[in-house]
Amino acid sequence: MKIGVFTIGEVDLRLLYRLICCLEERFLYKFLVSSNYPPPSSAFNAVKKQYFAPALMNKAKLSFHEDVKYSLGITRLDLYSSSLNTVFGDANLNEKIALTSYYRLSPEFYAYQNGENPLFDRLLKEAVHQLSHILGLKHCYNRHCVLYYSSTIYDIDQKSSLFCADCEKKLKKAAAYDRTNDFHA
Ligand SMILES: [Zn+2]
Ligand SMILES: [Zn+2]
Repeated sequence: MKIGVFTIGEVDLRLLYRLICCLEERFLYKFLVSSNYPPPSSAFNAVKKQYFAPALMNKAKLSFHEDVKYSLGITRLDLYSSSLNTVFGDANLNEKIALTSYYRLSPEFYAYQNGENPLFDRLLKEAVHQLSHILGLKHCYNRHCVLYYSSTIYDIDQKSSLFCADCEKKLKKAAAYDRTNDFHA
């Protein structure tokens, strides 16, 4: 079972490959970097100067290879979603597409410093979080768990990139289900 990774616009490739290494350890799926898309002008809101996350995911979906069941998009574009002015990421549960932007995770937006490598740590947490949603996991009330809902950068910094024991169990169950139902492995 593979997870397809796509990028939209220019991304830092060192950051991307470091992220994929960490995700492969967490999820025990193979990750395959498939395609890069130019930022579609149809998803751009000129007033907000931001991209509409659901539209970006829809656009990417059109060219997915059929044996990729799950997809994760990484971008540096500034995103918003239906009810939120700014989002760090989004997930389309029906199409099993997750999207994470590291634009607003950058320390340059925030006056305080947190950790050695805040950008990478935050990106890992957000990518793990969104990916878990498309694997079927919901938000968790444990504020240290990676599946805790984070609306601010402080929430992200408070939590860990790991799952709590309950979510870890759920993830293993979801992955085991996928393996027994995967005929392309
Ligand atoms: Zn979430
Ligand atoms: Zn949890």
